[in-house]
Amino acid sequence: MPAKKKAVKTNYVYHFGCGKADGNGAMKELLGGKGANLAEMAGHPKLKLPVPPGFTITTEVCTYYWNNKRTYPKTLKAAVEANLKKVEKETGKVFGSKTNPLLVSVRSGARSSMPGMMETILNVGLTLDTIPGMIAKTGDERFVYDAYRRLIMMYSDVVMEKAAGIEPKDDKGIRKILDEMLCEVKAKRHYKSDTELTAKELKELCERFKKEVKKVLGKEFPDNPQEQLWGAIGAVFASWNGKRAVAYRNIEKIPHDWGTAVNVQTMVFGNMGETSATGVAFTRNPGNGDSHFYGEYLVNAQGEDVVAGIRTPSPINKWSVSGHGNDDKFLAVVMPKAYKELDAIQKRLEKHFRDMLDIEFTIEDGRLWLLQCRVGKRNGIAAVQMALDMVKEKLINKTQAVLRVSPAQLDELLHPIVDPKAEKAAKPLAKGLPAGPGGACGYIVFDTQTAIEAKKAGKEVILVREETNPEDVEGMRAAAAILTARGGMTSHAALVARGWGKCCIVGCSEISVNLAKRTMSVAGKTFKEGDFLTLNGTRGLVYEGKLAMLDGGTSNKNLAAFLKICDSVRTLGVRANADNPADAQKARDFGAEGIGLFRIEHMFYGANSEKPLFALRKMILSSTKEERVKALNEIFPYMKNDIKATLKAMAGFPVTIRLMDPPLHEFVPHSKDAVAAICKALKISEVEFKKRADALAEVNPMMGHRGIRLGVTYPEITSMQARAIFEAAAELIKEGLKVKPEIMIPVVCIDKEIISQKPLIEEAYKQVVAKTGKKMEYKVGTMIEIPRAAITSAKIAAVADFYSFGTNDLTQMSFGFSRDDIGAFVPSYIEQGVLKHDPFQILDQEGVGFLIKHAVKAGREVKPKLKIGICGEHGGEPSSVEFCHREGFNYVSCSPFRVPIARLAAAQAAAKGKK
Ligand code: ADP
Ligand code: MG
Ligand code: MG
Repeated sequence: MPAKKKAVKTNYVYHFGCGKADGNGAMKELLGGKGANLAEMAGHPKLKLPVPPGFTITTEVCTYYWNNKRTYPKTLKAAVEANLKKVEKETGKVFGSKTNPLLVSVRSGARSSMPGMMETILNVGLTLDTIPGMIAKTGDERFVYDAYRRLIMMYSDVVMEKAAGIEPKDDKGIRKILDEMLCEVKAKRHYKSDTELTAKELKELCERFKKEVKKVLGKEFPDNPQEQLWGAIGAVFASWNGKRAVAYRNIEKIPHDWGTAVNVQTMVFGNMGETSATGVAFTRNPGNGDSHFYGEYLVNAQGEDVVAGIRTPSPINKWSVSGHGNDDKFLAVVMPKAYKELDAIQKRLEKHFRDMLDIEFTIEDGRLWLLQCRVGKRNGIAAVQMALDMVKEKLINKTQAVLRVSPAQLDELLHPIVDPKAEKAAKPLAKGLPAGPGGACGYIVFDTQTAIEAKKAGKEVILVREETNPEDVEGMRAAAAILTARGGMTSHAALVARGWGKCCIVGCSEISVNLAKRTMSVAGKTFKEGDFLTLNGTRGLVYEGKLAMLDGGTSNKNLAAFLKICDSVRTLGVRANADNPADAQKARDFGAEGIGLFRIEHMFYGANSEKPLFALRKMILSSTKEERVKALNEIFPYMKNDIKATLKAMAGFPVTIRLMDPPLHEFVPHSKDAVAAICKALKISEVEFKKRADALAEVNPMMGHRGIRLGVTYPEITSMQARAIFEAAAELIKEGLKVKPEIMIPVVCIDKEIISQKPLIEEAYKQVVAKTGKKMEYKVGTMIEIPRAAITSAKIAAVADFYSFGTNDLTQMSFGFSRDDIGAFVPSYIEQGVLKHDPFQILDQEGVGFLIKHAVKAGREVKPKLKIGICGEHGGEPSSVEFCHREGFNYVSCSPFRVPIARLAAAQAAAKGKK
């Protein structure tokens, strides 16, 4: 608090109630979310809702309190007194009066909601002096002592223990001690519910409570209303820096300097007998998005009784029936007048706030009061349904609609999931890393072959491995889910599974796999092939047996409709990384507008790879150019057909084909038979084979002889690939299809590398045109994945038609973190806060992003229309997609299953830009 002048001017307290308010809903920073919305509900000319009068002490006071050794600004006391007077006038009651006492609640309220983290104290102002007045006024002694015992419980806990910094013995706080005393009395009397306690019993309990408080905390429970009020206010401010609240802010990334506001509000009583009630409601169903008013309530109850689960609440109407019992006591039937009023109000509120709201209400002796409203939390299914409905209802426009569903919520709709009800009732066997989302239930197998066979036989299988490697790919493909004992979030299994949108748990160290016996053991149990497991890949939980599942996916009509809205808002293109026609088709189904990365070498892995792989082996083990060209000619037809099939599936859309990239030694055969076959084909001895194979071994294959380096040393490899691409394209053109091949040269770091390859590609093009008579548009560009390429972008752009940022390698080379070895240290980096996120999952905008920005800027200075995309894992990660939008990319490319997320993220980036 620097200038004194400011302190005088500053308004620390804002009144609300009786159709007026000093503040409004836009003032969340100053008044907190609760205070701002109370002001909006009470004071907005279009609302003027029945809100119990009160006032809000601003978040600035909280900041002052913490910056000034827990003291208040000088003017605060007078401001609170003046506002309390105003409330007394409005209610006709007096705080501390013996005959006509005003009671208040003291409620916390941060800018963004921190559920359950901050404190609230009800019934402040009840003392031995005011109790008789309350009893006389209400004629209900039982009610007054019920309120009093609640005050003692909350106040001793929040003010006298927590805010005072007292650490309870054996973790048993005063609230728990008092609660046990209450339960004892109930048990002794055989009461099921709190409401059965009599006035006399409650009164006695209050006396015993106060003695216990004195005994445990060493202080008298205050019997002075002003002391109670200021004690409660101070405790709410103090709770801002309570252990739980600080931890919550760290997780939710809420700044610690925001502070909380304090709301002091006239008490209304839902616990005044059978004509009173309290409840929580949503303007639409937060579980499925139905546009019906939805909620629960309790008769004769106060405050958190509804959520606390002490008594089972009843549904407010027929749309809120949960099947948990009490289903016939609708509020609509029990208190029709109050319900009708509430229903009318919720409609007005939703129109006003243009979103689904979560509402807290209390009915005091038949009269309805609104205590809170805020934008309601919802699951993915509901979020999409509501966004669609609200556009239809013209409550929001399309730009607003795309911001109503978070990427995580959309993700919920893309995968089958374990039925939450079934999951709640089950106990997990083990926990691993949530590498691939969704759920799966299946029959366990331990190797690829069995997985494929079981899948063919129509069984859903879970492939369980110590860890996976590229040879398991077919089995992983066949499996419904993958479970590994080792590996991190970027391990082979995790990457592959995420790419396929497959449920996957990695690094589940509690399981041990015995391949010889074909068993796995976990938690003292042994499972054999054919036993069932259920996996929740979103949370990393493994369950025994079959749990019920719920469907997900693109067949969902709402999902398709919502994504269409996203497409109308976004400006960034979305492509997919796909290596075969099936993935290309999937990418189209998910709405991709082309392929951003087709890895030409994919044909050498997996199903039907035997023959091309054999030819490739011959090629890499050749010792002369003649041998190599012969082998390349053998590879050619396979490559051409492979490319053709994918280009066909993507007809009409651009396809970026990356020239061969993997380190050659990966393809050297190891098995005896394979070695013998290759020796025979090349007519060489095993000794000679070994010599040639050893020559291919590299100390650091990641930075070895690969990508364009192969093309520079063996130009015939580039020529053959270019020919395969152009011939495939020409044949499709003959069939009347539109194709747009884009040739991408990988691992470039010097412009001259591209200059060396371009004539080869041009020459191949000429040959194909001469042979087929078909001309076509094509592009030659490069992957930017080495920092030097980004740095020298001005030169590289001059010779490239497009860039695609290969951010996996660009991250690896910028950090100097080996992608395959980060498991050993990145988790510690994140734990200790050295790194905020795994940079292989979330683009490092500061470092890697710096290189990208430079490359884009320098490149477009040379070539303003330079086409720019991204094809790393980051292409489907929302914050990275937003970065790409801001930096003026033309498109992002990601695995087919991430395409819907990318479409949403691109739309949100555009919508935020418009705001
Ligand atoms: P939270 O932020 O945890 O939701 P609140 O400040 O909303 O805490 O208080 C919790 C509950 O206490 C409310 O849902 C409401 O039922 C009750 N409550 C708060 N203030 C009052 C009041 N003035 N009159 C009656 N009940 C109140
Ligand atoms: Mg609340
Ligand atoms: Mg690379």
